[in-house]
Amino acid sequence: AAAAPSDTTEAHRSALKPQQSAYAIEFENVSKAFGAHRVLVDLDLQVQPGEKVTLIGPSGSGKTTVLRLAMTLEKPTVGDIKVFGESILYGTVGRPLPRSQEARIRRRCGMVFQQFNLFPHLTVLQNLMLAPTTVLGQSKEHAEKSSFEYLRMVGLESKVHAYPAQLSGGQQQRIAIARALILKPEILLLDEITSALDPELAGEVLDVVRSVAHETKVTLLIVTHEMRFAREVSDRIVVFDAGRVIEQGPPDKIFTNPESDRTRAFLQSVL
Ligand code: ADP
Repeated sequence: AAAAPSDTTEAHRSALKPQQSAYAIEFENVSKAFGAHRVLVDLDLQVQPGEKVTLIGPSGSGKTTVLRLAMTLEKPTVGDIKVFGESILYGTVGRPLPRSQEARIRRRCGMVFQQFNLFPHLTVLQNLMLAPTTVLGQSKEHAEKSSFEYLRMVGLESKVHAYPAQLSGGQQQRIAIARALILKPEILLLDEITSALDPELAGEVLDVVRSVAHETKVTLLIVTHEMRFAREVSDRIVVFDAGRVIEQGPPDKIFTNPESDRTRAFLQSVL
C-alpha cells in the first residue's frame, strides 16, 4: 500500500519534467513570416547534442532567423521548436511564452552577434561578471574567478581592466564569446560573428571558436560566410535558399560534390 502513492508521485513528477529528447534543438514544420513575407517555409531540422552545424546560403535566405527562433528572440508563425525536448509552445497566435520557460530556454542557449554588444561603460571584467551575478546569482568571488578562466580561454587575461573602446574589434568579439560561455550554455548560437571584422581580425576570433568546438561539448549552430572555417569546424552543413533547406550533409560532400545546382551556384559566388 505504501508503494502506490510514491509511484503516483513519481509519475506525476516525471510528467512535470520537461520531456527528454535525443535532440538539442528540433524544428518541426516551422514557418516564419514577417507580414506577407515568408522568411522560413516548413523547416524541419534536428541538431544532436554536441553537434556542430553551420547554416550557409545567400543573404536573406532565413539563416539568422533560425538562430533567433532558437533563442526565443522571434516566434514561429507556425510549427514547434524544442530545446532539449522542451517545446516552445506557440499553438495560439500571439500567445506569449511563459516567462519562466523563456528564461529557462534562453539560459540553455547563448548567442553571439555580428555586433559585439559589449557594455561600453563597463570594463571587460564587469562585462563578464554582470550576467553570472545578476542572472545566476553567483557571488562576486565566484563570478570573478570564472571570468578569469574564460578570459584565459580566449587569450585576453591581460585586458581584464580595459574598456571595450580600448580593444580591437577582434578582441571585443573574443570577449563577447567569453561572456556567452561563462553562462555555460549547452547550445551556442553564432550569428555572423566575423562579418564586421577585417580579415586579419576575423582569424583570431575563428581560432577561439575552433578551440571551443574542439575542446567543449557545446552544441554549435553557426551562421557564417567563412566557408573554409565552416568546412573545418562543422559536422554538418545545412544549405538554405529562399527560406528552405535545399541540401544538407557532411562538409566534404557539400563543398566538393553538392547535389543541388543552387548550392553549386552559391558556393561559386562565395569561394
Ligand atoms: P539571412 O541570415 O540568411 O541573411 P535572415 O534570416 O536575416 O536571412 O532574413 C531573412 C529575410 O527576413 C530577409 O529578407 C529579411 O529582410 C527578413 N527579415 C528578418 N527579420 C525581419 C524583421 N524583423 N522584419 C521584417 N523582415 C525581416
